[in-house]
Amino acid sequence: MQEKVLSIVIPCYNEENSIISLVNKVLESPIKNKEIIIVDDCSTDGTKKVLEKNVKPIVSKIIYHKKNGGKGAALRTGFQAATGDVVIIQDADLEYDPMEYPKIVNPIFDGKAKVVYGSRFLNTKRKGYLANRLANMGLTSFSNMFTHQKLTDMETCYKAFQKEVIQSVNLVENRFGFEPEITAKISRKNIKIMEVPISYHPRKNKEGKKIGFKDGLRALYVIWRYRK
Ligand code: UDP
Ligand code: MG
Repeated sequence: MQEKVLSIVIPCYNEENSIISLVNKVLESPIKNKEIIIVDDCSTDGTKKVLEKNVKPIVSKIIYHKKNGGKGAALRTGFQAATGDVVIIQDADLEYDPMEYPKIVNPIFDGKAKVVYGSRFLNTKRKGYLANRLANMGLTSFSNMFTHQKLTDMETCYKAFQKEVIQSVNLVENRFGFEPEITAKISRKNIKIMEVPISYHPRKNKEGKKIGFKDGLRALYVIWRYRK
């Protein structure tokens, strides 16, 4: 039997400080057959240089956006390019740990789930900064009300999908509205999202984090807009 492949989609905008170490961590992760797809969302710092010089030789594909579109837009591009059996989202920073891929993607490889989220808050103590944590708790509860899922971390980066599932969802949110949008649209397909616990090493806005208060408001609107 041919071995199954994991496609790792990395949206990347102005991540010159982390992209190379992140890609190396992804390469070291204990999944044998992997396809790494980077979508450069029109970076304006030194990211493109690093990608061309150091990253291109060690990944499957780099796709360049001509205009900055946002995380959602970058992911749409990446999902369409994916050819693996399972697709996982990997941010270009070091907040999440690629060593944890197996527990997130194996339930899909094994046919036990179609969609799995890695939760930073399941069965564990507090992780992340208070303001972000509270915002996430509120948004996750609000999202659960409409999706009838029982998630503890809707905003997590680690979301993995059967390829056919993710490629069949029509996505439109360009920025961080992607997270509630995909959660709502998966739920509309009556797919139960499985959660597994993961670790988390948060970075601050001054370290390059781009999500902000406005994105929180947009998330409220998105949850309501794409409700079941
Ligand atoms: N990102 C992107 N385009 C943008 C903004 C962000 O592709 O316009 C990428 C960014 O490089 C990172 C991911 O989306 O890989 C998530 O961004 P960030 O880490 O700032 O957000 P958070 O960790 O708060 O979700
Ligand atoms: Mg991040």
